[in-house]
Amino acid sequence: MSIRFQAPRGTRDLLPRDAALWAGIEATARSVFAASGYGEIRTPILEETELFAKGVGESSDIVGKEMYSFPDKSGRSLTLRPENTAGVCRAFIENGMSQYPKPVRLFYIGPQFRYEKPQKGRYRQFHQIGAEYFGSRDPEADVEVLAMLFRFVQRLGLERFSIAINTVGDSDSRSAYRTKLVEYLEPRRGDLSEESQRRLETNPLRILDSKSSKDRHVLAGAPSLADSLNAESKWHFNAVCSFLAALKIPFQVEPRLVRGLDYYTHTVFELTSSSLGAQDAFCGGGAYEDLVARLGGPPTYGVGFAVGLERIASLVPESMAKKLIGTGPLRVSAVGSASRRGEDRQIRAQFLVALETLRSKGIHVVERKRLFPGNPFAAAILGDTSDLEVILGDDELATETICIREVSTGEKHVLSYQDALDFIHSKHDKEDG
Ligand code: AMP
Repeated sequence: MSIRFQAPRGTRDLLPRDAALWAGIEATARSVFAASGYGEIRTPILEETELFAKGVGESSDIVGKEMYSFPDKSGRSLTLRPENTAGVCRAFIENGMSQYPKPVRLFYIGPQFRYEKPQKGRYRQFHQIGAEYFGSRDPEADVEVLAMLFRFVQRLGLERFSIAINTVGDSDSRSAYRTKLVEYLEPRRGDLSEESQRRLETNPLRILDSKSSKDRHVLAGAPSLADSLNAESKWHFNAVCSFLAALKIPFQVEPRLVRGLDYYTHTVFELTSSSLGAQDAFCGGGAYEDLVARLGGPPTYGVGFAVGLERIASLVPESMAKKLIGTGPLRVSAVGSASRRGEDRQIRAQFLVALETLRSKGIHVVERKRLFPGNPFAAAILGDTSDLEVILGDDELATETICIREVSTGEKHVLSYQDALDFIHSKHDKEDG
């Protein structure tokens, strides 16, 4: 029996057309983040397991149930990173960046791994684009990060999405609320969903964003997080909201938003789109004032976000996706002697030399073979077809020119290589609008 291998459950291959779209989204992120002074950091995909236990928190779903952890050959426990904030904080401390003038602004792009139940929009290997700001506690830090995120999402042309924000307050407010919430829920434990009963011990704040109707019923009378905020936490959040309004960034305050990771304090936020279905969040983030210290660094206020690439890619409108992917290479037809492969090796060699010369001058070309025209597999690999095609015949080969045909009008232009490059650029710029 022959063996058929499959990609591991919850992982998938990214084929050239999607990979081109992702590269376009990543390039957009790089340019948007550079405009705010963010530098890229690439941390290892593997970290010591303990980093996540300490950083993300033992009580989070991620650390509790979803990590790919294993002993390496020397018996050290390593984990495929389930998120990148802990790793970036570790690198920030380890590389002495905590001594740099503040703020320190970093962004990352890469794969993350969580052992979750795969479903639409939820994978075991998924990818995030994220940013982290390290400085002192200042509402403007939260606003800078949110404004940059908003600019990124706008540059990608996303149409229907919402930004929900909330505050969980500083550590004091957060733990004061935790106590109140547990006092309220404990006598009503039996009315909660199983999941929430478990969370009552491990991570009671998470019960707030439960979707179960049983839980929602119990929560209707629960003390509100807002009432537990101390003056400093309220001031911070009000400042964030008023700056966001001044920047005309649309947002809703969502009092039940708490987010799954243990490290958040102060502002938390989530971007959702109804076009995504059940897994409707495509970005999550927030501030964390204890994380760097918890990992052994000096007390440092951090704030950041992570965008899910799979999800945001599915939200990029088709016209923008086309722009990001770009047109594929021009299809070249050999005519005359050069088309008769295998007969005249010398003319065929001349044809191959012409193709390489065109490529080295920046003109992207592939020979049209039986695959074309209009073969969907060709588009999947090469990208969209241009309105221009190239004809190389004996005359063109002899004079080092190319004949460019506009498919829609049938008009032909015989041009030197340099003029051809300018012509193609001007036409493609026009096609991209
Ligand atoms: P989190 O790190 O849980 O705050 O997630 C941030 C973003 O990453 C989410 O809004 C999703 O877009 C994306 N994400 C998280 N988990 C997954 C997953 N298992 N599969 C695909 N995307 C994910």
